[in-house]
Amino acid sequence: MKRLQVYPAPEITVTFDPNVCKHSGVCLMTLPAVFDVRRARWIDVDAAAADRIADAIDRCPSGALKYYRNASRDPDAADRLKAAVDANAKALADAADGSPGER
Ligand code: SF4
Repeated sequence: MKRLQVYPAPEITVTFDPNVCKHSGVCLMTLPAVFDVRRARWIDVDAAAADRIADAIDRCPSGALKYYRNASRDPDAADRLKAAVDANAKALADAADGSPGER
């Protein structure tokens, strides 16, 4: 189980769940300025307009990439982002505990 990666920017926050990525490379081909695995923080949310980032993420076939617009575009986004981060943290804690379902 790996930690959910969160890349915040004023207009859009992007998350990447390495547990579900299928390594299709669609993101890398669609928007290479933003998605570049040669960087330690491989998603640069400042490298393109938020709409272009959202369009690229909509093409991710696995759902590993998600985006959350700022409050003016999506009032519920902050709550959904927090829920995703919390769910990942719980899964990490359960995995560390060896809880049922993680074996
Ligand atoms: S498009 Fe989605 S599934 Fe494909 S490499 Fe990027 S994050 Fe992974």
